[in-house]
Amino acid sequence: MQILIVEDEAEIAELLRLTLDREGFTCGVCHDGLEAIEQFYRLQPDLVILDWMLPGIDGLEVCARIRQKPGDKDPYILMLTARGEEFDRVVGLSTGADDYVVKPFSPREMVARVRALLRRSLRQGGAGSGGDRDASPTYATQHFSLDSDRRVARRQFEAQGSEELDLTTLEFNLLATFLSYPGRVWSRSQLIDRLWGDDFFGDERVVDTHVARLRKKIEPDPSNPQFLKTVIGAGYKFED
Ligand code: CA
Repeated sequence: MQILIVEDEAEIAELLRLTLDREGFTCGVCHDGLEAIEQFYRLQPDLVILDWMLPGIDGLEVCARIRQKPGDKDPYILMLTARGEEFDRVVGLSTGADDYVVKPFSPREMVARVRALLRRSLRQGGAGSGGDRDASPTYATQHFSLDSDRRVARRQFEAQGSEELDLTTLEFNLLATFLSYPGRVWSRSQLIDRLWGDDFFGDERVVDTHVARLRKKIEPDPSNPQFLKTVIGAGYKFED
């Protein structure tokens, strides 16, 4: 597993590198935002540890650029923030970070958070295929499975087997996006990028309409969603 560490404070960067090295990860280190983008495309890491306040472009901007153009591998992103910095969790996660850690942190805490994130990719079946989640887009969670090649999505029931979902192309792509990252908060504009790309013009609220339609097809009680949740002020996330 490759990790890219982006941190301008040399001591913290070195502490992270030593700690994660000892745990068997291969680490690259860089110290500013623009260098981070370059290193990201060169190394194609599984995980990026990204300091929020950086010279050049800041961590949120680095995160947004990686999410817009992830290359071959869409990585996990763990944001670092110093205590006292007004880091807004919702803003951070809506930009596409998967988790964040507040400095100062203990090496043990950092290792635990890194392992927790990388376990998510194991659950999604990414590890055996070298982590190329986009190349074999088949997802399974406790209650859902989706096969992009065959364009089949199914809902699993605890006792009575499963049922194929009758989805439009847009609803299918929306569900695939959510299943690709359980727990990740998606802003409306990120979902628009994924679903319509550059062809989109109009009101972001169109996302809400499609989410509502998808809920009708996957939720036992669409007015009280169990899987596809609204994150107030940020967007939506899928949890199963
Ligand atoms: Ca910093």
